[in-house]
Amino acid sequence: MTDEQLLSQTSKPETIQILPTANVVKIGGQSFIDRGREAVFPIIEELKQCIPYHKMIIGTGAGTRARHAYSVGIDLGMPTGVLSVLGTFVSMQNARMLHYLLADQGIPFIEPVQFPQLPLYLAERQAVIFFGMPPYTFWQRNPAIGRIPPNRTDTGAYLISEVFAAKSMIYIKDEEGLYTADPKKEKNAKFIPRISTSELKAMNLKDVVVERAVLEMMEHAEHRKSIRVINGLKQGNLTKALNGEPVGTEIYVG
Ligand code: ADP
Ligand code: MG
Repeated sequence: MTDEQLLSQTSKPETIQILPTANVVKIGGQSFIDRGREAVFPIIEELKQCIPYHKMIIGTGAGTRARHAYSVGIDLGMPTGVLSVLGTFVSMQNARMLHYLLADQGIPFIEPVQFPQLPLYLAERQAVIFFGMPPYTFWQRNPAIGRIPPNRTDTGAYLISEVFAAKSMIYIKDEEGLYTADPKKEKNAKFIPRISTSELKAMNLKDVVVERAVLEMMEHAEHRKSIRVINGLKQGNLTKALNGEPVGTEIYVG
């Protein structure tokens, strides 16, 4: 399993597309859920309107409470793998809350052990909700810089869209999409409606709108070769994205 020639042959048979009609939708923690009902209630209504027409695997971010846990954990000397466990529980809290807000839809909250039931749930109920954090927990790799788990909820959601060959990967955040700089810090930042991963890499931006691990993983994608980041604070954007309309920023492999 270390022979490169042999390994390259393993990519010859095409992988199957397991859930090609499902959309993975990640609702931001810091960028969205932390804004409370003002942001969350309208998106819940839009999700309800979309569920009859679009299959959705809904993931949640963790946000400020995870950042607090990371900060205390770092101060107390916790390693990355332990911080990863802490972050998982915060994204789970967010998933729990959204799940109850969607209770009248009769959709299940699923943990990684329930992913084998995903095809059934989507066939029966159109949507599921899960916490976006990938279950690396203690096995989370140390980042190149610092100690924050590098694979968080953007990455967990992305990997689900890739492995199941989902129809789309949509990130719901609080900005129109990707800009040349963080628009909260740089007033003159320019909006980028569409960009390839290699162009983005070449721009060497100080900060980006999705976890950098997502952009790295996209380079090895078999199926999910583009992602979309939208401003979920604007009603209708999610519906447009689910309909495949060009809203927000599309980042594609190229
Ligand atoms: P989430 O809670 O969905 O994980 P984050 O807060 O981690 O979202 O990341 C989204 C935030 O990234 C945006 O709210 C924005 O302020 C910031 N950001 C940083 N760099 C950029 C950029 N180049 N373009 C757009 N947004 C950026
Ligand atoms: Mg984030």
